[in-house]
Amino acid sequence: MTLLELDNVSVHYGRIQAIKDMSFTVEEGEIVSLIGANGAGKTTTMKTISGLLNPSAGSIRFAGKDITKMKAHIRVVQGISQAPEGRGVFPGMTVLENLDMGAFGRKDRSGMATDIARVFALFPRLEERQKQLGGTMSGGEQQMLAIGRALMSNPKLLLLDEPSMGLAPQFIRQIFKIITEINSQGTTVLLVEQNANQALARAHRAFVLETGEITHSGTGKELLANPAIKEAYLGVG
Ligand code: ATP
Repeated sequence: MTLLELDNVSVHYGRIQAIKDMSFTVEEGEIVSLIGANGAGKTTTMKTISGLLNPSAGSIRFAGKDITKMKAHIRVVQGISQAPEGRGVFPGMTVLENLDMGAFGRKDRSGMATDIARVFALFPRLEERQKQLGGTMSGGEQQMLAIGRALMSNPKLLLLDEPSMGLAPQFIRQIFKIITEINSQGTTVLLVEQNANQALARAHRAFVLETGEITHSGTGKELLANPAIKEAYLGVG
């Protein structure tokens, strides 16, 4: 079943067009990766899906509903949750308080308890450090906290904006392993990355974004093997 569908979406910042007639789908159960260079429009795409930006043309459907004009906080209730680029952890709040913020507005106590147990099972470090202030956690730990917080709304679709940004190589591998684990537990994942290698290796399908347009699409394996993509994005000539 198609979970998310973008149909000819365009996004402008004033007169600058950042996204041009973009169309793609994310099927239920998939990991889909969007790769591209700096300024290609990856973050703009994610913010448009989560409702932080409005498209100037086109439409977005989620779980069978037109959500093009739906406010961001309502999209969270519908099942879309974003772990933002740059992490956005609340520095003066503890790890546990940060996680609670991700469950904001939820009233189902037992569901929340299940979700916090899930987050602690995925990220044992967060359980160990639950009383530590978010701002004093390491970069990798803050990334885990941002993903954990996004999971606290029990989303159908998890949006991850550059989950590997700024992380040491061993943390990058770990984060991608955990993303695969989250997906195998039933959460559909759409991620954007500059770290194309891992993003393609872990994806069922992927798209390459160049100056606001999709230029290549295929399975993660197909794109990993594509010579043009190897040269441009995988650091191999
Ligand atoms: P990066 O990996 O560097 O974050 P990106 O692929 O996420 O890049 P976007 O941040 O989506 O790219 O930016 C796409 C284009 O839109 C860029 O040309 C950028 O300069 C422009 N842009 C982004 N935000 C704004 C803004 N608030 N005002 C004007 N232009 C913007």
